[in-house]
Amino acid sequence: METNKEIKLFVSKKVSWHEAVWFKGHIPKYAFNFWVANKCRLPLCTRLLKWGIGSSDACCMCNLHEETRDHLFLQCEVSIQVLKLLLTRLGEPSKTFASWPHFIDWILGPSPHTPKIIKLLASQTVIYFLWKERNLRLHENVSSTLNLIFRLFDRSIREAIHTQNRTQSTDLLSSWFRHAN
Ligand SMILES: [Zn+2]
Repeated sequence: METNKEIKLFVSKKVSWHEAVWFKGHIPKYAFNFWVANKCRLPLCTRLLKWGIGSSDACCMCNLHEETRDHLFLQCEVSIQVLKLLLTRLGEPSKTFASWPHFIDWILGPSPHTPKIIKLLASQTVIYFLWKERNLRLHENVSSTLNLIFRLFDRSIREAIHTQNRTQSTDLLSSWFRHAN
């Protein structure tokens, strides 16, 4: 039988990811993509192969590992480099994420240098752009450079910040640029 402590932990975990997806100020297309990724429902090669679609379950970015959600977004070399750029822009030390729950914990954890909304928006946007890049490589055989992925991502973050409350957006924008080169 579950103890009260276990039930509380379950409830708080459930609330946790919800907060990382549907926060106030989210951008619908990024939040929806993040929600689907969080549910492990994106049509990754490993899932497609199980349905008899495609011929390989290899990651479309590196071709070296199985394309699982955690590998594609957190452990693939391209993603590690993009996340590294993100962490630099947030003024945080470089690190890697062992799993999706670890990533969610980091998103919702304290960030001394960054307003929470920036971290939430940036995390969802980076996952959206990694997914977009993966689809380009898979369907159109086109690869973007790391710099281009990050430039597109950076522009989208700035646009997302502009959609926030006008009095807030100037402060948020300067916070996003605080650690830019
Ligand atoms: Zn990979």
